[in-house]
Amino acid sequence: MTSINLADRGVDLGEWAKSTPKAADEFAAAVRSWLEENLTGEFAGLKGRGGPGSEHEFFAERLEWDRHLARAGWTCIGWPTEYGGRGATLEQRIIFHREYARANAPARVNHLGEELLGPTLIAYGTEEQKKRFLPGIVDVSELWSQGYSEPGAGSDLAGVSTSARLENGKWIINGQKIWTSLAHVAQWVFVLARTEKGSSRHAGLSFLLVPLDQPGITVRPIQQLTGTSEFNEVFFDDAETDADLIVGEPGDGWKVAMGLLQFERGVSTLGQQVGFARELENLTDLARSNGAVDDPEIASRLVRADIGLKVMRAHAQRTLDGDVTSQAGAASVSKLLWANWHRDLGELAMDVVGAPALIGPPTTVEGEPNDIADPEHVELDEWQRLYLFTRADTIYGGSNEVQRNIIAERVLGLPREAR
Ligand SMILES: Cc1cc2nc3c(=O)[nH]c(=O)nc-3n(C[C@H](O)[C@H](O)[C@H](O)COP(=O)(O)OP(=O)(O)OC[C@H]3O[C@@H](n4cnc5c(N)ncnc54)[C@H](O)[C@@H]3O)c2cc1C
Repeated sequence: MTSINLADRGVDLGEWAKSTPKAADEFAAAVRSWLEENLTGEFAGLKGRGGPGSEHEFFAERLEWDRHLARAGWTCIGWPTEYGGRGATLEQRIIFHREYARANAPARVNHLGEELLGPTLIAYGTEEQKKRFLPGIVDVSELWSQGYSEPGAGSDLAGVSTSARLENGKWIINGQKIWTSLAHVAQWVFVLARTEKGSSRHAGLSFLLVPLDQPGITVRPIQQLTGTSEFNEVFFDDAETDADLIVGEPGDGWKVAMGLLQFERGVSTLGQQVGFARELENLTDLARSNGAVDDPEIASRLVRADIGLKVMRAHAQRTLDGDVTSQAGAASVSKLLWANWHRDLGELAMDVVGAPALIGPPTTVEGEPNDIADPEHVELDEWQRLYLFTRADTIYGGSNEVQRNIIAERVLGLPREAR
């Protein structure tokens, strides 16, 4: 695999590195015009594709689009230039996500590599690990998945029981992960495993980088409410990975795993709000056109959704300005705000659509008749998908209850819950 160098990609950091209003405007204009020029031709049909509940849509084409972005220097832009990024400032990263969402560009395929594993390797990895893995994330030749949750360890992640032992220069891994997003399309998984026999809770865990394509690993997709399979069960039966593919020291896994979670849902959530605004706008248009808005209850919920969006934006701005007492608390407030807002929007969508929400659209994306008698193959419309997938928003990335515990304990100083 070759390393990507910014000079090769014709990227001029010059003006963009300076954070002035003019430079920010120029950066936004550069992103906008690149997207306008490139989200055309073979990529034009990808607009709006691949969001939650539609991860399966046009996967190969979206992978190609991500590689196209990479060739022009638009992947991993916040990473330091020495690792193939642009060294973009926080402001520039926000601008990029905002413009990307405005252009209705397709969902990215390697979010877990770019936003989670890459920054973690930059922070905790060895130089060899950075050299080996970062270029494959930048050029989108290797996709990643996250092996944290297990049937007995979700909110209480310290309950991880998947084990790994060192034998003849290899880690031998046994156990099971669950809800592993995109493992069925990824080449690698980062695994939190217990490497110290007899250890419990946060001690004795290690963070391992494991190739998925090997006889010791079985990936079994789980069908979701949407009928699609975004996540999987992953079984490890004497699966192997090289001894040096451990991030941090043996036993340091908890520290590395928590470091990674701080990167989860970072600045990209600001682009997400542009997508939310578009969903609300489309729903409001639908309510006007089908007369649902004449129902005062619906009208009031639409207005409340608009206010909720403004509250979300104000909170994000305060957090970025550092105007909060606890960053951990602010992240939890943000998660609660967006997840509940989005779930409520899904419910509102069903009420705006009304009775037709009970059946699928008449034809599939490919124009075939939609077979509502076949639950395996029925295709949902965007509102049904929104409703069903947003049930998951209040669970992944830390459930509502877990976020409230964090706010109670770390921000309000209430007594810790009994453990
Ligand atoms: C769409 C989706 C994608 C996901 N992708 C991944 C992935 O790629 N990799 C990965 O590792 N995991 C992934 N997950 C798993 C996710 O992290 C877990 O679902 C989440 O941590 C909750 O764990 P759990 O499902 O075991 O539920 P549990 O932890 O068993 O929780 C069950 C219920 O109990 C509540 N609860 C738990 N503890 C407390 C407490 N202390 N106080 C009050 N209430 C509590 C919870 O809020 C919840 O309502 C994904 C989940 C979803 C829905």
